[in-house]
Amino acid sequence: MAQDIQFAWSLYHGYENYKDKHLSNRRFKYSNILPLIHHLKNKNIFTVKKAGESEEGRDIYLISIGSGDKKIFCWSQMHGDEPTATASLFDIFNFFLTENHYTEFKQFLLDKTTIYFMPMVNPDGAELFQRRNIFEIDLNRDAAQKQSPEAKILYSVFEEIKPHFGFNLHDQDRAYAAGLSGKSAAISFLAPPFDYAKTKNESRTKSMKLISEQYNLLSEFIPGHISKYQDDFEPRAFGDSFAKSDSSIVLIESGGWCDDREKEFLRKINFISLLTSFKSIAEESYLTEKIDTYESIPNNEKLMMDFIIRNITVRKFQTKYVVDLGINYEEININNNHSFYYKAKIEDIGDLSVYSGYKELDATGLSLVLGKTYETEFNSVSEIKSVGSSSLLQKGITNLKLNDTEIENKYSPVLFNIILNNKERKEELKEEAVPNFILCDGRKFKYAVINGFLINASSVGKKVSNALIFK
Ligand SMILES: [Zn+2]
Repeated sequence: MAQDIQFAWSLYHGYENYKDKHLSNRRFKYSNILPLIHHLKNKNIFTVKKAGESEEGRDIYLISIGSGDKKIFCWSQMHGDEPTATASLFDIFNFFLTENHYTEFKQFLLDKTTIYFMPMVNPDGAELFQRRNIFEIDLNRDAAQKQSPEAKILYSVFEEIKPHFGFNLHDQDRAYAAGLSGKSAAISFLAPPFDYAKTKNESRTKSMKLISEQYNLLSEFIPGHISKYQDDFEPRAFGDSFAKSDSSIVLIESGGWCDDREKEFLRKINFISLLTSFKSIAEESYLTEKIDTYESIPNNEKLMMDFIIRNITVRKFQTKYVVDLGINYEEININNNHSFYYKAKIEDIGDLSVYSGYKELDATGLSLVLGKTYETEFNSVSEIKSVGSSSLLQKGITNLKLNDTEIENKYSPVLFNIILNNKERKEELKEEAVPNFILCDGRKFKYAVINGFLINASSVGKKVSNALIFK
């Protein structure tokens, strides 16, 4: 184990040498990975084959390396908006292509294993940055029917390879925590069941042992942030369906990590996780692990929110409450799905003591005042920019009126929300509402929350994420 930990740390420290810089934002598309795949065709150690075509005619590739008996198959992004592991696969290709001090290790792997990769199983979904394929089919519920071409391709390639190990690579909601720890589930693992009784046969036991080993290894980097994915049998899912064969299936879900919205850190963890797994499979070191470790991994619990403000004093009908407020930021795709803006909503109000926030603020002693709209209507954005933000915030203003019929964006170019064309708007404190309010200490303005993002009175002008445009 000590030697494996050392190996994992050396990957951790050397990662920047392998990270594929072409994939720098997680809304990358098929057109971004295609030249990278073509590049591999010219390299001797890789075999690149077209496996089939997506519904919209994008080629889906199978890339392989090595000539050993132990077969490993990794597929990623069957959900179009779950790209983290796809990027890691290209990092792994670079690891094999780059001259480095792992020559001996790489040769050992290539002799012992044959590793197959299918990056971006759902390129049409990735194009729209959506979960489902172009027919609105969730590919991971199409393993039994296999109506979609993407599901057919994945299934037939799996049947042809008959891998000893299969890695099913996904992203999951940032809202999951590792058990009741209050820590985000950065990585979730599952040895998927193949029946409702959740029987542990030999191949599933092997998955559990490998995950046990991974749990110990990754705890070096993300201690307390590893969880076990829900293990209910789902006959329509690929992992569960493949687990029926003699293959050992490992589900890896990249979840949430503080200040890592683009999941670049989790991409690095995937890189380490997969390479150390390959090593373990080649050496069969996982066989000495106990499944008790797997069983003891905390379950995924939906207990994380993006931002929690605790102990706010709220007044309604002369009554005073002290409540916590949970806020989540939804990403709305823009620019042909290459970018996004945030739309915040109030997730919950009340006692949120069981939840943890990626960011938290203790508002003890502060009262909430709902955001107001400034009376004067502006005629241009530059006119707005000439007014001091601080003075408006002091007055409890979160929204400004703008007379402009041209604006098409739905996110504001300034600190404040913008209300177009004299529309009426009244802020509310309720579930699903956009959080727009001021936090005051007595009469003194301390914080503003506009579209869920915190603005500190003492640092107005510091860049915060976007406010909204209400039409
Ligand atoms: Zn998924």
